[in-house]
Amino acid sequence: MFSRFQIFRVVFLVLVCFTLSFAAHADTITTSIFKDSNKQENFQSIITKSEAGSLNVTKTTAGTAIHLGTNGEPQWIIFDIVRSQPQQPLSFHFGISDDGRLGFLKQIILFNRTSGQTIINSQNNHDFINSKFILPPQTQTNTKLIAYLEPIKGSYVTIAPHLNNHDWFTLLGTQSLNCFLLLMAFALFFAGTLNNRTAGGLCLSFIAIALFLHRNALDQFLLLPPWLSHYSTALVSMIVGVCLFIATLQSLKRYIDLPLALPIGGTIFLLTLNVSGLFVLTDHPTLSMVLLYSPLLLICVLGAGMLGYFLLRYRHYALTGMVLVALFVGLMILAALLTTFNIAALSPLVALMSGQFLAWGILICAIFHALPLLANQAHIVAENTGSQTSSLSGSNSDEQWLQQARDSSEQKRLLQVLQQERAVMTNLQEAESKRVDEMRLAKEAADEANRAKSAFLAVVSHEIRTPMTGIMGMVRLLLDTQQTKDQREFTNTIQDSGEALLSLLNDILDFEKIESGKMDFEKVDFDLPRLLKGIQTLMNGHAAAKGLSLNLDLDPSMPETVIGDPTRIRQVLLNLVNNAIKFTSKGNVTIQVRDLSPSKDNDIVQIYCGVQDQGIGISPEAQRKIFTPFAQADISTARKYGGTGLGLAICKRLIEQMGGQIGVNSRDGEGSTFFFTLSLPKGSATSVIVPTIKPQTNMSAMKSIRILVVDDNGINQKVLSGLLAKDKHKVFLASDSIEAMNIIQLEPLDLILMDMQLPGKNGLEITVDIRALSDTSLANLPVVAMTGNTRDEDVKACFAAGMNDFLGKPISPELLQSIILKTITGQYYVAGNSSSPSLYSDNPEDEFEKAVREMEEQDDMATIETSIDLQNKGLNKEILTSLHKTLGPDQTKNLLVSFYETTEQILAALNGLKSTDNFDEIYARAHELKGMAGNFGFAMLATIAGTIEDAAQQKDMSAIEIGTDQLSYCYETSKAAVTNWIN
Ligand code: ADP
Repeated sequence: MFSRFQIFRVVFLVLVCFTLSFAAHADTITTSIFKDSNKQENFQSIITKSEAGSLNVTKTTAGTAIHLGTNGEPQWIIFDIVRSQPQQPLSFHFGISDDGRLGFLKQIILFNRTSGQTIINSQNNHDFINSKFILPPQTQTNTKLIAYLEPIKGSYVTIAPHLNNHDWFTLLGTQSLNCFLLLMAFALFFAGTLNNRTAGGLCLSFIAIALFLHRNALDQFLLLPPWLSHYSTALVSMIVGVCLFIATLQSLKRYIDLPLALPIGGTIFLLTLNVSGLFVLTDHPTLSMVLLYSPLLLICVLGAGMLGYFLLRYRHYALTGMVLVALFVGLMILAALLTTFNIAALSPLVALMSGQFLAWGILICAIFHALPLLANQAHIVAENTGSQTSSLSGSNSDEQWLQQARDSSEQKRLLQVLQQERAVMTNLQEAESKRVDEMRLAKEAADEANRAKSAFLAVVSHEIRTPMTGIMGMVRLLLDTQQTKDQREFTNTIQDSGEALLSLLNDILDFEKIESGKMDFEKVDFDLPRLLKGIQTLMNGHAAAKGLSLNLDLDPSMPETVIGDPTRIRQVLLNLVNNAIKFTSKGNVTIQVRDLSPSKDNDIVQIYCGVQDQGIGISPEAQRKIFTPFAQADISTARKYGGTGLGLAICKRLIEQMGGQIGVNSRDGEGSTFFFTLSLPKGSATSVIVPTIKPQTNMSAMKSIRILVVDDNGINQKVLSGLLAKDKHKVFLASDSIEAMNIIQLEPLDLILMDMQLPGKNGLEITVDIRALSDTSLANLPVVAMTGNTRDEDVKACFAAGMNDFLGKPISPELLQSIILKTITGQYYVAGNSSSPSLYSDNPEDEFEKAVREMEEQDDMATIETSIDLQNKGLNKEILTSLHKTLGPDQTKNLLVSFYETTEQILAALNGLKSTDNFDEIYARAHELKGMAGNFGFAMLATIAGTIEDAAQQKDMSAIEIGTDQLSYCYETSKAAVTNWIN
């Protein structure tokens, strides 16, 4: 069967043949024109004058267009026709648009002088008067027609009279070619528009159909109803102008994103001009022309500009075609303007320009517009018919044409795709860069918010620690008072909750420190196996309390020393072991340590450290979140076991900042293994830091030293007064630098406890002032900082200001006691003194070492309590133990009884001597006691006796007095501890 394309081709060729055989001009026609500017003549006088030859006529020959002017001047035209076959009917035509027929008449009367009949008379109410009529058959060869023609004023009217045979074939041929071309153009534009759905294509269809209708009216009619004949040309020009404008903008819009205002505003502007042109059409024909056609001219200029630009850049067919239309319209208008203003006479060339050229131009444009559609059809046909196509006659050129059409359509399509993709890419790139910018800003804002949050948390945590000193201190004091069972329980609950809160605050501070990058990591040699054993020792009791065993599975090939930060590694391990114990109710917890280094010769040790438990396990979903801050496996677990959810987050950050990895292997209900890996350099065995067990002060309390507490916080003052008064110290209170300096000047003091944040001068500044005092005994007073900031830099600042030690808040009574004892016995840091104890004697590491050591000592001593008690009460456990072991309990007891008697005598003597100036006696007694007490392991007593001995040598009575008071107190507490121990 025929495809749509083949049918279309056949119809096209047939119509072209018909059209080309147009106008079979038969016979001859001569026209004589008489202009009747004063409208004086009538048919009778014209016939008379014409036959008398007195009429002043202009003669023209057939086929020449006759211009009837634009001023509405009536004309008389006499047609002298010589017929070759008078017995045949003859068709008389006033001309079709192809011949340059333009405009409509206002009035027409056509009289057949030969037959004496009136053929047309518009006065007899004819709305539509045909431009063609039939001359009936007759006997003679000559026919004379007389016509009265009155054109519409302001309208450009042209007729081109000619004769045709009156048969159907010739009649078909007299259809104007440009009408046919315009109809074709319309069909192609419309089909193309249906295919690619562009507003531009639709506008061009409107142009083609408007021009077609107008031309067709010219071909068919000489006179139309007044409203139509008057405005039809102007209306068509308006439609053409506006549609062309929109089409131009449409094609422009594909390259430049025009704002909507331009098409809307432009269209309104064009229509305003055109409509004003319509209104003044009859009264001011010239102005009307300008108003009607100037927008068109403008668009033509725009179109010409686009043509140049796009031809150079894109060779875009559809656009080129569209711009061609613009040019043809321009030419047409030019022609119309030239002839309207009588700049150039109407000639066949002008007629051709205004008619044929325009129609051909529009058709070419329409073909280009529909080209992709045609090519597609061709493509389908080619595919359907396959090899048969090549055997058809003339198939070579067809194929070439098809190939070209396909290629060009393909190219066009590709070009369009490329352009669209380029536009999409540009948009995407812009959107992407915008998104990246927005994300960067959002990230900066989020970082800033995060920093603010961390800083806020840190400040708040720090600020909470200060009142916590009050709470915890008061609770301790409360616990030392007489309470009912219930009250004690409540107080214990307050203490537990307080400790939990403090641990949370410490976690938050730690977390903030890591997050803000302020956490410093040490690189020191340390003994890893010892650290691990220490953790085992420390946590053993905790595990045992739950009926669990805590095992250490240490790779024997593990090097002794490595370089890293032992404090942080211990912090991580303690947290993991603590969790393992917390979430396990029965079974074992094992710390497994392996050396994963591929070769033992490596300088770097790859350590794997796992903490394995047989506890509740963790579900896969929970495993994904537990390393994020404040995340817990599930709410019920959190409720049951407590905790903040910060521990693992801190561990992860610590391990990652040390260059390692942390993870978990676990199954719900089957226990978990938390592990981390670290690559640490091997250490040198000689430089290893083996935590030294420092000689203990071995005194738990001293009596009546004079302490100045500088703190503006009333509760803190109360707590400290309470704690210190309990140990019988004399306390002075100051709230600021002025009060502090006054008391320092007035009262003899042994120690100053200095808060850091104070109104006016802060703790550091006051210390500097004290150190600058001219009286050296005042300037050298020991000053201990009380601070919630225990970061390295804060501690360093304390020492730099001349302070001797520091106490972290909340103040622990034990620590306070030990600091006081250390200070009194001179075991504190003095700037520039190399023999001073370490700056960080109270840092967590030492606390830990102390705790581990104490645990280890459990093996040697009978009970933990006794051991700790002995040390706290200032006794040397080694001496006592060895006495106990060597002499046995009974003899030891007897010896001790004697020792007590003698000591009491010496104490009584010293008390008696302290108000005398018998320094020699005092020295002797003190010396005696010192030696004796040392032998019995009463170390603190011996030390105090030593200080009295020195004071007696220096004749320092006040020191002797203080020392004697301290001796009594120390003796009582030490004696009680030993009695307790030995029984
Ligand atoms: P928390 O202070 O709540 O213990 P962590 O960050 O240390 O905070 O732990 C987060 C959560 O991970 C815990 O609440 C618990 O649900 C889960 N978890 C941690 N260790 C274990 C373990 N050994 N067994 C089971 N669950 C654990």
